[in-house]
Amino acid sequence: MKIRGRLISAFTIMTVVPLLITTLCVKLIVNKQTTALARSYNIDTKNYSDLDFILNPVNYFSNITLNDFQEITKHTVDNPDLLYDTDYLDKINTSLKKKGSYMLAVRAGSYYYVGDKKKFKKIVALPKEIHYRTTNKQLVYFDLETSSIIKKTTFSFSDRSIGYIYLICDYTSLYPHWKQSLYEILFAFLLIILTTGIILTMWLYQSIVCPLNLLRAATTQIGNGTLDQPITIQSYDEIGQLCKDFEEMRTRLQTMVQNGIKAEENTRQIMSSISHDLKTPITAIKGYTEGILDGVADTEDKQKKYLQTIYSKANDMTYLIDELSIFSKVARNTLAYNFISISADAYFRDCIEDFSLDLESENISISYENLCQPNTQILVDAEQLKRVLHNIIGNAVKYNNKDQGHISISIEDIPVVPVPPPLYRQINDDGTYVTPIPEPEEFIQVEISDNGPGIAAKDLPYIFDRFYRADASRNSSKRGSGLGLAIVKMIVADHGGKVWVKSQEGKGSSFYFTLKKDTQDNEGRSLHE
Ligand code: ADP
Repeated sequence: MKIRGRLISAFTIMTVVPLLITTLCVKLIVNKQTTALARSYNIDTKNYSDLDFILNPVNYFSNITLNDFQEITKHTVDNPDLLYDTDYLDKINTSLKKKGSYMLAVRAGSYYYVGDKKKFKKIVALPKEIHYRTTNKQLVYFDLETSSIIKKTTFSFSDRSIGYIYLICDYTSLYPHWKQSLYEILFAFLLIILTTGIILTMWLYQSIVCPLNLLRAATTQIGNGTLDQPITIQSYDEIGQLCKDFEEMRTRLQTMVQNGIKAEENTRQIMSSISHDLKTPITAIKGYTEGILDGVADTEDKQKKYLQTIYSKANDMTYLIDELSIFSKVARNTLAYNFISISADAYFRDCIEDFSLDLESENISISYENLCQPNTQILVDAEQLKRVLHNIIGNAVKYNNKDQGHISISIEDIPVVPVPPPLYRQINDDGTYVTPIPEPEEFIQVEISDNGPGIAAKDLPYIFDRFYRADASRNSSKRGSGLGLAIVKMIVADHGGKVWVKSQEGKGSSFYFTLKKDTQDNEGRSLHE
């Protein structure tokens, strides 16, 4: 779940869950209280919902004395004089007292019965008219001063004198129940809020703070130079994405550092190879020169032979230095490529024509086949691509061991390979991001095969490495630097292609490389890198 969704859920849980549970708790507590009240005060709860207890307490409390009031009202019609009987009134008052209530009787303007003198003293004035009507049609008066609910009935005694009976319920005496309920509700609410808060905090801590802590620890590790500790977080939100990006960055940094170390090692190897490869002809030149100076070459023939060897060794050195200079340019990316869109067929035909004269003199035939779609355009630097062909064909000529050598060149289309999405993402202004969909690229494949000696299987994986020369070539008289195919590999890679080889000892070798097609209309336009 995304952090946004998580925050929305947290907010919902924080508000809805306590509300629901609190409502449930309130319902349960009120239900418990009303049942207890109904039981102890013998209230008929059939027509009431528990909510009346909260929403309409006047109604609820007035009900407590409903039965007593109904009985008195009945006597006001049947036998009004009974309501002058103190014994009878005492009996009713005793029942009322159990319900936090008492009664008051008035005849001809004087109170002839006061059920609770102490409480009655507090009542300033009794109501003349009672207007508040409860749900069961009782008229009640609500005295705020003394928190009393007052009911009144008016009747005539047998001598026609007017009498009033007041039923007064001091509901504060019932208050402990309320108070307890309120405390229970408050406690339940606090407990719910606290529990929800703790659970939510733990959830958010687990899902946000913990991964952030891990990320911080990983950052510190990287800062200290430890790049081999992967960070694995199973989360699909923004933090999970951040950790994924972080992990990608770590692996790339690690590769960069490893490459740096490898490059350093390579440079060291190159330096030792160069010094070794230059030392050999120099030592030979020195030896032969000393031979001439010391008079070892005492005949003209011998001197000529010595000088020829010196000349040949000097040529080897020039060749090596030339190759080194090109190699270093390509390796340091200082070779300025001038990519242009050209016809693949026309280009290869031209090159083959250029090479054919030299090949003829070496007794090597060449064939060419174009299997590409007509008008296939490729995006290449014509000069550097020629260097690639020169190095591969040059090797075929150099290592040819047949009386009649043969080189065949063919070009063909290769199926379009979908390009994997890039590792970076494009971030929009609003913070959202998209992974750009790369255009699929089309390539042609070039194959250059010879019928030469082939390459030993053990050498095959290394022949594109710089300064690598197969044992067979090293021990032969063939001039070489071990850089030709390394240059090929770098130039092809700079063209966006790749190079590989297949070979069978004694049968010949086939070199393959790919070149990017120009699918847009870039004809005649040069693309500088
Ligand atoms: P070199 O200067 O030695 O030719 P390269 O990088 O051009 O260096 O080639 C690397 C090695 O690959 C060579 O030393 C040789 O052993 C082998 N090789 C390359 N091309 C061929 C080929 N056409 N036939 C046989 N061996 C080859």
